[in-house]
Amino acid sequence: MKREQIKDTTVKLMAVWYNRLLVTFLAFLPLWFILYIASEISPDKIFVAHTFHVIVISLAVLFSGFLSYITWRCYRATGEELLRWLVYGFLGFTIIYAPHGLLTHYDMDNIWVFVLFGPASRLIMAFCFLVAMLKYGEVIEPEKARKKKLTVPLILFVVINILVFGAAHLNAVDLNWWRLLTEYLSISMFLSSVIWILVQKTRGYMALLYGLAMIWFALSCLSFTIGAVWGHQWWFAHIIFAAGFLLLSYGVVQAFLTTGSFKNIYSQTELLDQILVEKKKSEQALIDLKQANEKLEELAATDSLTGVGNRRQFVKRSEEEMSRAYRNGTELCMMVVDFDHFKAVNDEYGHQAGDKALKAFVKLTSEIMRPSDLLARIGGEEFALLLPETSLSSAAKVAERLRQYIEGNPIAIGKKNIKLTISIGLAQFRPKVDTVKKWLHRADELLYQAKDKGRNRVEVEDSKDKGD
Ligand code: GH3
Ligand code: MG
Ligand code: MG
Repeated sequence: MKREQIKDTTVKLMAVWYNRLLVTFLAFLPLWFILYIASEISPDKIFVAHTFHVIVISLAVLFSGFLSYITWRCYRATGEELLRWLVYGFLGFTIIYAPHGLLTHYDMDNIWVFVLFGPASRLIMAFCFLVAMLKYGEVIEPEKARKKKLTVPLILFVVINILVFGAAHLNAVDLNWWRLLTEYLSISMFLSSVIWILVQKTRGYMALLYGLAMIWFALSCLSFTIGAVWGHQWWFAHIIFAAGFLLLSYGVVQAFLTTGSFKNIYSQTELLDQILVEKKKSEQALIDLKQANEKLEELAATDSLTGVGNRRQFVKRSEEEMSRAYRNGTELCMMVVDFDHFKAVNDEYGHQAGDKALKAFVKLTSEIMRPSDLLARIGGEEFALLLPETSLSSAAKVAERLRQYIEGNPIAIGKKNIKLTISIGLAQFRPKVDTVKKWLHRADELLYQAKDKGRNRVEVEDSKDKGD
């Protein structure tokens, strides 16, 4: 058993590490292509395609604009600060990256005019995404989130555009140096986001997507630092960036379509755990319900004053015992018990005293009946006693003993002991002929006879009168 456990834990541990390896491999997959292109494809080999560039960038800007909106909606719904900074990241990218596409055709006059917007947009994005990760877990009231406006960041991004445009015309400055610096800064910020995720041990599906996207963005920046404009590396940098962007957008759309929250999108394992918890809860609820039902059934079958079964319960149990007696060929008897002149007890000592007498009767009867016998209160001060596997003669003895026992044990009410008597009608079950109703009726008839004959007596049905 222990060995099995060790084996199981080892396999699980291996699976966990394999999983980590897999994610790491996936994260750095573009790096092999970057290295391959850098070593195998000459930077002279270029693919100049202005219109294609414009179309691709336009698509990216369009998607990014749409994602800004989706993320903004998620932020307003949940108030997660991370989402607000994600919006800034997407929005910044949308506004600053747009001129990179629009000004493509200027590359002949001044290449920096269109090139510089690329690194600038990535820098803003890297910054906003890093802040977003630092804000992981911070939540403000959704009400407050709904009041927030995007005017300030919008103006800021437009100002950045103007500055970048201006910078592109500074002939005295080494713009390539600035471009590289910007890319390195972006790389360090994208990687910082990943480090933050790892340090904080942020788990979950979204953290995974986010981390992967950040690494791909960083690799894209790296690819941009190596590649010359229109070169293969440069184009590949666009592809890696697009891959990271699509991955992140996939996460955001999932959030939008489900919980609207970045935090509460669960991994499969988390979902499974949650399902297990919920399953346990519902199972417990079912058990509780079953117990409550049993309790209700018990209550519905019990007489609240004396605690013995009620008429319903007596009929049900009688039917069960009748079929058992029929099957096994055993004898079965029933007695119906009624207090003599009970009205007088009530009149003289009050209704409460009467109630007390009924409870005392149950207690006394329980002392002399067998555990297999069933006592039930079938009417006001009328009881029935079912005696399984008992012949009529034995039952008659029990009835007589009960009658004497009640007579001999006066019931204490207040300071007085009241002597009460009972009358009993005793009838035996007739297989094939009897229903509970018929049988009860016979016992009742006998009870009336006992009353007629002067009360405080047992009337037993004639054993010869089997009536088949
Ligand atoms: P008898 O000897 O003919 O049976 O006379 P009795 O007065 O007992 O007559 P009967 O059985 O018809 O009367 C039943 C009386 O029992 C009527 C009612 O006042 C009383 N009774 C019925 N149920 C209760 C109860 O729950 N508590 C009390 N205290 N009295 C009850
Ligand atoms: Mg009575
Ligand atoms: Mg009665």
